[in-house]
Amino acid sequence: MKPFTFDTPGAMHMEWGAAGRLGEILGDWFRQRNLLIVTDKFLHQNGLLEPAKASLADAGFQVTVFDDVVADPPEAVVTECAERGKTAGADVVLGFGGGSSMDIAKLVAVMLTSDQPLADMYGIGNVTGARTPLVQIPTTSGTGSEVTNITILTTGETTKMGVVSRQLYADRVLLDAELTVGLPASATAATGIDAMVHAIEAYTSVNRKNPLSDALAREALKLLANNLVPACRDGGDRSAREAMLLGSNLAGQAFSNSPVAAVHALAYPLGGHFHLPHGLTNALMLGPVLRFNMKAAAPLYAELADVLFGPSDEDVNARATRFVDHMQELMNDSGAPQRLRDVAVPEDSLPTLARDAMLQTRLLMNNPVEVTEADALALYREAY
Ligand SMILES: [Zn+2]
Repeated sequence: MKPFTFDTPGAMHMEWGAAGRLGEILGDWFRQRNLLIVTDKFLHQNGLLEPAKASLADAGFQVTVFDDVVADPPEAVVTECAERGKTAGADVVLGFGGGSSMDIAKLVAVMLTSDQPLADMYGIGNVTGARTPLVQIPTTSGTGSEVTNITILTTGETTKMGVVSRQLYADRVLLDAELTVGLPASATAATGIDAMVHAIEAYTSVNRKNPLSDALAREALKLLANNLVPACRDGGDRSAREAMLLGSNLAGQAFSNSPVAAVHALAYPLGGHFHLPHGLTNALMLGPVLRFNMKAAAPLYAELADVLFGPSDEDVNARATRFVDHMQELMNDSGAPQRLRDVAVPEDSLPTLARDAMLQTRLLMNNPVEVTEADALALYREAY
């Protein structure tokens, strides 16, 4: 067997409504009692955090809420949040929200104990310090950020940089699907498709794909593909919401160890230039990239078809085509926008996007088929 490494958070707990007894749960997990919650204004003001805060107060926690996280967070959010935590003497950090809040929580947990400048942390394995205990609670089913060791920050007008280090893996993850019930159908669709992309790209990734990431990706895809449309049609469908949250989590563990590829590489410039949500940009690029990758990835897509439809006597190409067509159908049925023109991307921006996508070498190197700038442009045109 090819050698491989697999990293993931230390422990997870899944329970419907668990946020309402957060104090009890955290009290069992940690001896620290001075908690910094990292979240955004919308979640703080719509009351989603209230049951958790009440339970924390009952359990004797001192709580500071930092709710200034924004989408595509700039560096300033990290430094302000770390300052707030230091002033409060926080000794445990909780990320509560979507990918941005959980990403910020990871770096802040490091910065509470380490004087390493943020600028020195970018890249892979460059974080030198330890961190305070870290818990993550996702409120969307998509990014998988609760189980990854990556933080993405916006560092310029259209540029983003990543910190990837083992310190960013949380100690504990709490999965409470009740928190995702209020997500509108459009966000459920976009984030759910992003999670499916994580599973598919992890399964076809060329460098670090391994038996554990494969097993997680297969199970994730089954959960996500069977529950995406039910969760979009009825946000209160408890079993669909639980399946989506678990599927997103398993897909996150898969791609944290077997990294994503061209769908994400082509999605990032769309987010950078037009501030479209991450999940939506992946949904827009998935169909074209799946078809482009067929020439190398067909045997793996055929395996994924078997996961979804059971074993079949059909040949590899027929099964792979069935898989790709089914993904396209799911996206159509989810109600997510289908074309770049539907989300106001100007046609004359496509060459710039293609040029920018070429900068995503960290992701493109994982793609089963080499992507040139001309290929990228053709893929954007197909998605247009
Ligand atoms: Zn993603």
